[in-house]
Amino acid sequence: MVRIVDYGASYFTVSDPDFRTLVEEMITAGVVRPWTDTFHVHTEGTMAGVKTGPMRYAAPAGLRSVVEHLAKSLAAVDTETHIERIDITDAGIQADIYTAQHVALCMPQPQAERMVDSGMLPDVNLTWEPVIAVTLVFDDQQWLDMDGVFVNDDPVITWVADDGKRRGDDAPVLVAHVNPVFAARHLEDPSGVLPNVIAATRRVLGIEALPSWSWAHRWSLARPIAGLDEDFGCTRSSP
Ligand SMILES: Cc1cc2nc3c(=O)[nH]c(=O)nc-3n(C[C@H](O)[C@H](O)[C@H](O)COP(=O)(O)OP(=O)(O)OC[C@H]3O[C@@H](n4cnc5c(N)ncnc54)[C@H](O)[C@@H]3O)c2cc1C
Repeated sequence: MVRIVDYGASYFTVSDPDFRTLVEEMITAGVVRPWTDTFHVHTEGTMAGVKTGPMRYAAPAGLRSVVEHLAKSLAAVDTETHIERIDITDAGIQADIYTAQHVALCMPQPQAERMVDSGMLPDVNLTWEPVIAVTLVFDDQQWLDMDGVFVNDDPVITWVADDGKRRGDDAPVLVAHVNPVFAARHLEDPSGVLPNVIAATRRVLGIEALPSWSWAHRWSLARPIAGLDEDFGCTRSSP
């Protein structure tokens, strides 16, 4: 049996009214579900309580399914082509085999910089924090009833999500995010974090059993330390 796990973004929140309308449509369509507004907080070695915030939304079939749902209205989607080079020409914007009038580069800036000439992207040097996301599958749920835990002051993990609660199928699956400082030391060897992450997750959640399956995924460019002050776009200048 294949069971999808969200080992990237954990959830999303809604503040923009137009996005709220879209999210409500996706809830009706069964693509998105309101997950929770409350997470546990683990501080100074103990479970300190819970913290309530905005509603967090999740997707029963994984967050990728949200993008696939939104892309249904597009005429053609090519997910197989790796774009090597983007050039601005008189005919338009040339992205390898494709010519277009508009191109949105939706990836971390250091990845976008590999494809374009310098000067086409903002001249900023953002620092990116890495994360290693560790999926832990157990035979059964041996931890307290919770949706997720913010883990403060821990050198190994910062956050654990209950993926079964998130997905709504109650599968005994946890996803732990590794402290960026610890993750940075293991970017060439992501699975090297597993013993520490398994120990830290069991300690934080008081789990006696060992996971029956574990896997570490490296995100070298997980989150920028700061954002740009302004939206960025660049256009082809008129000939
Ligand atoms: C561990 C982790 C936890 C996170 N938690 C949250 C969270 O809780 N809530 C939240 O809102 N956000 C979270 N985020 C951030 C969120 O994942 C990103 O903001 C979001 O994925 C950005 O979407 P995107 O489509 O712009 O880029 P991405 O999801 O980065 O997608 C970029 C795509 O471009 C493709 N690509 C790259 N180069 C090329 C190329 N040359 N040719 C063709 N394709 C290319 C890649 O394969 C990829 O599919 C998290 C991220 C990480 C890593």
